Amino acid sequence: MIKLRNIHKSYGTGSSRLHVLKGIDLEIEAGEFVSVMGSSGSGKSTLLNILGMLDIHDEGQYHLDGQEIRNLNEAKAARLRNRYIGFVFQSFNLVSFKNAMENVALPLYYQQVNRRKRNREAMLYLEKFGLSEWAHHMPNELSGGQKQRVAIARALISKPSLILADEPTGALDTQTSYEVMEILREINQAGITIIIVTHEHDIAAMTSRVIRLKDGIIAENIRNGDVRKLATTRSEEHTSELQSRQVI
Ligand code: ADP
Ligand code: MG
Repeated sequence: MIKLRNIHKSYGTGSSRLHVLKGIDLEIEAGEFVSVMGSSGSGKSTLLNILGMLDIHDEGQYHLDGQEIRNLNEAKAARLRNRYIGFVFQSFNLVSFKNAMENVALPLYYQQVNRRKRNREAMLYLEKFGLSEWAHHMPNELSGGQKQRVAIARALISKPSLILADEPTGALDTQTSYEVMEILREINQAGITIIIVTHEHDIAAMTSRVIRLKDGIIAENIRNGDVRKLATTRSEEHTSELQSRQVI
């Protein structure tokens, strides 16, 4: 699904030039659940933003589903993003003056789906994540965990094949982090590829592959075979439930 070859990225020019990614080679197959680790400033967000077409690499090749991502104008990039990718952020990025349901429905608004249909769809996702009763509450009335579940529902509503999550548990306590990871695991088990940035080892251990960035390159690339097997067994029932309800 994703192929990166010798990706370079720098910020700034001249003496203030900062070479952040120094030749990233990476392949991620459809259906993987990958975490990206590395110290602060190592380029994790930069890499994720390039993958999400929110930023552009300086050198190298990026193929997404066989298509080279290069010199795209903003309209084309937006189209590809809408078709393929759902984003989840550490700070949730909910629209503060819209309620939970409207936040989840927002991507469908941009696809010109009528209000009744997009709200009905949004309610399905809220229900799935145990948030039906919070549908008409504003973001500032929700807990961190609830906000992140709303944000995940919003990322899913346009049925992406890839979820990119930049420190999705970074603002949550341990218990809530695990709940959010469980949701991401269910989504992954239903076939959606997920890439998360994290600097927490216990969170990374819940994914099937850990990539570590160091000094601008991938210093480690480790498969968590056993974790994956465990996750498969545990999530089978959730997956069939999601599929039978056609939520995913
Ligand atoms: P991480 O997510 O691993 O903490 P980032 O990818 O956010 O790291 O940043 C990598 C380096 O690039 C940092 O030193 C950061 O300050 C710098 N950086 C990130 N974005 C920009 C930008 N838009 N302009 C200039 N420097 C940036
Ligand atoms: Mg970051």
